Amino acid sequence: MDKSILIVEDESSIRKFVKINLERNGFNVFEAETGEDGLLIARKENIDIAILDIMLPGIDGFQVCKLLRQEFPKMGIIMLTAKSQDIDKIMGLEYGTDDYMTKPFNPTELVLRVKSLARRIDPSEKTDSSNLLISEPFKIDTYSRKFFKDNVEIELTPTEYAIAKLFLEQPGRAFKRDEILNLVWGYDFIGDSKIVDVNIRRLRAKIEEDPSNPVYIETVWGIGYRWKEND
Ligand code: CA
Repeated sequence: MDKSILIVEDESSIRKFVKINLERNGFNVFEAETGEDGLLIARKENIDIAILDIMLPGIDGFQVCKLLRQEFPKMGIIMLTAKSQDIDKIMGLEYGTDDYMTKPFNPTELVLRVKSLARRIDPSEKTDSSNLLISEPFKIDTYSRKFFKDNVEIELTPTEYAIAKLFLEQPGRAFKRDEILNLVWGYDFIGDSKIVDVNIRRLRAKIEEDPSNPVYIETVWGIGYRWKEND
């Protein structure tokens, strides 16, 4: 899996340390000291996953995240933060991050998160032919990794796509939040299931006619979520 990773971090010691650990695991790593440089690299290279520090000289990690999401909806994004009050913002609807880590972090843990995200971007079950999951008016082509509503493509982030695929594989099944966390983020994810809720809200905003009255992704009180049963 030779995925390209971009690390945007002004502290060179952390940057190098992340780079070495990822390279050891077979990733191709690009480094940037500022958000501006990071954007230039993202436009030039084919970046699969960006790791963004929040506190940067010039534009901050939030801005970089927003711009990357606009230009590259399918890029995986992991945010690094030193402040616990940033977490609510990271988890907000506005930025669309796939994951986050709090500093100081264990490099092994970061590598696991990157690998888990890489799997969301590039699942191993590749087939030669189109494989369609259909739940009218939605359709997922698992070969091209595209999601359609009424035959119009809706751009999903890697995490939103992974959740949508999980639902369309088993319409009508109620998934617990922790189950979604495990199936999408990976069993090694020691995270907050709030990240599941945020991604569900983003997915609803993209696919529901009225996201505050969702009909496709139902809330199962006290449990989690369920894709509506096929008619
Ligand atoms: Ca920094």
